[in-house]
Amino acid sequence: MLTSALAMLFAKERKVVAVDCDADAPNLALWLGGIKSWDKIIPVITSAKPEIDYKKCDGCGLCVENCRFSALRLTPQGKPALNPFLCEGCGACEVICPKGAIKLKPVQNGEIRIKRTRYNFPLVSGQLFPGETGSGKVVDEIKSEASAAAKAMADKGKIIMIIDSAPGTGCPVTAALKDADFTILITEPTPSGFADLKRVLEVVNHFKIPYGVVVNKWDINPKFSNRMEKWARGKFLGKISYDKKIFQAISNLTPIMETNLKAKNEIKDIYDELKICQGQ
Ligand code: SF4
Ligand code: SF4
Repeated sequence: MLTSALAMLFAKERKVVAVDCDADAPNLALWLGGIKSWDKIIPVITSAKPEIDYKKCDGCGLCVENCRFSALRLTPQGKPALNPFLCEGCGACEVICPKGAIKLKPVQNGEIRIKRTRYNFPLVSGQLFPGETGSGKVVDEIKSEASAAAKAMADKGKIIMIIDSAPGTGCPVTAALKDADFTILITEPTPSGFADLKRVLEVVNHFKIPYGVVVNKWDINPKFSNRMEKWARGKFLGKISYDKKIFQAISNLTPIMETNLKAKNEIKDIYDELKICQGQ
């Protein structure tokens, strides 16, 4: 919600590329009003799976024994069979097979979708296919495509890339944070939200990225929200109220900036604060 709103606000003053790097659950397109058809879809191949040559295989079972992910099993016919959903593409089976019967083959594990939105900026979104691994690598690919889209607009002045990251501290988050000039850490006023905020801050500090903090749904626990605000001190950018109508808006594919909800003005305040932080 915040990424879509900031992209729309920045687009009034700057050239923008909106990027959805939450490859496991991309939803930025929904927050921007939904997209019926994409301008471009690019296959992503960042994963590999074993292919077994049964003519060479003698059924020794070594690959099955050495697959740490239990992705291989011996069939009643005494030959290995692969469960692709469990396979991590580590390549151990290829290395261990004494007959050279296993070769890792690249597989398409996701796709990148590009669309010029009705707000006159491109959206670059990535999707990892169900059961596939490698979201960090997919995020790298998404960002490369977003950079290409930004370069194509280079004649139009300085471009700002607004990235929606996955939650947490995993590979896709690290990949999304890489090379960022500024990070907004969005949290909720609960002990688990606070703990997660501190964890992701360790990653942000590791990359030495300046940051600001936003508390979402602050009014579900005002006392805890105040505590977080005090903790964040000069890094506090603002807070957004809990409002069931936000969920109605997304269900109706209405971007938050096209509603009259309280959150819209709260996000505008965050935007103004952000511009002050950035010295604009
Ligand atoms: S590539 Fe790795 S995870 Fe996949 S089947 Fe082989 S050993 Fe198992
Ligand atoms: S290690 Fe090679 S030869 Fe042995 S069961 Fe696996 S594929 Fe067949």
